[in-house]
Amino acid sequence: MAGIYLHIPFCKQACTYCDFHFSTLLKNKPEFIKALCKEIEVRKDYLETNSIHSIYFGGGTPSILSQEELQSIFDTLKKYFTWDKQIEITLECNPDDLSKEKLKELKEAGVNRLSVGLQSFYDDELKWMNRAHTAKESETCIKAAQEAGFNNITIDLIYGSKFQTIESWKQTLQKAIDLNVQHISSYNLTVEKKTKLGIDVLKGKEKEVDDEKSAEQFLMMIEVLEKNGFIHYEISNFAKPGYIAVHNSNYWKGETYLGLGPSAHSFNGKKRQWNVANNNTYIKALSEGETYFELENLSPQNRYNEYVLTGLRTIWGCDIAYIQNNLGAEYVKHFVDEIEKQNTSLYEKENTVYRLTKKGRLLADKIAMDLFA
Ligand code: SF4
Repeated sequence: MAGIYLHIPFCKQACTYCDFHFSTLLKNKPEFIKALCKEIEVRKDYLETNSIHSIYFGGGTPSILSQEELQSIFDTLKKYFTWDKQIEITLECNPDDLSKEKLKELKEAGVNRLSVGLQSFYDDELKWMNRAHTAKESETCIKAAQEAGFNNITIDLIYGSKFQTIESWKQTLQKAIDLNVQHISSYNLTVEKKTKLGIDVLKGKEKEVDDEKSAEQFLMMIEVLEKNGFIHYEISNFAKPGYIAVHNSNYWKGETYLGLGPSAHSFNGKKRQWNVANNNTYIKALSEGETYFELENLSPQNRYNEYVLTGLRTIWGCDIAYIQNNLGAEYVKHFVDEIEKQNTSLYEKENTVYRLTKKGRLLADKIAMDLFA
């Protein structure tokens, strides 16, 4: 179940909280597309298979690509990889880009899953985040996408901002449910040091996120979305039955993936590789045949720690049979000894699988750290 991730490192403007790699200088977009197509060719043998089950355009803002740019990427991918008949092709987009014409182009290009960065249904909050769209666009773009024939849509929402009250978060969730989307990814606002928000917090202009309020909003979200037919399959992800994301689930299940573009990460089962997070360096290196990535060979300890960190965040949990087969008995012993030291209200066991309870999911990262080798 191999997948391809393509990082499109451009945005119209910088959101105050964002620490993804992107540039608002769009002038070298044509050179970037050339470099990206070159990287597809150069790395065509990175995965052991050339049969691809998922393609994910992330960023940045992939909906900033023109029809021609998107087409040249698809043509290059088709030249070097075989696409599974059921392939999931996701493209992240911002509401302000989703005109009727744009939606038609995306559909014709073969995109079959849209990931829309709504974030909020409130104008004051969107303005504070420096998002490039309005609350009205947050609502209307989904209807437009559905009318254009997209029947697999995921939306991103953020909770924990100073604007969110328990009541407004409840209303946000209800609006999201009413939009009749198949999937919701919802993230707690995190304050990253190098962002505008991080700097404002450091200067005392903004406050840190209130963890207690966030925890309350998180638990409410699980309750409301589960009541409305969503499966909470990963800490931040909820899907209607049949719509669990193929691409992201493969990351969490330890499947291989090829990451292309500046800052993209790759994993081939044994090594991790990550590309330079600089557009100009990436473009220059690809055109001149220079190195543009770093590599890390994963030790059994690294692989165990990654498996625990990601497994505990999902409904698939951590399977000691998998640990036994892939890493050996000493890791099974360590895992069982450590998880059984945790409070029994935080985890449950079913045959060889340990997974976190609702209460445990709130502490997933801390529990994972307790279990690290
Ligand atoms: S549009 Fe997305 S990637 Fe771009 S700055 Fe905003 S949050 Fe970051």
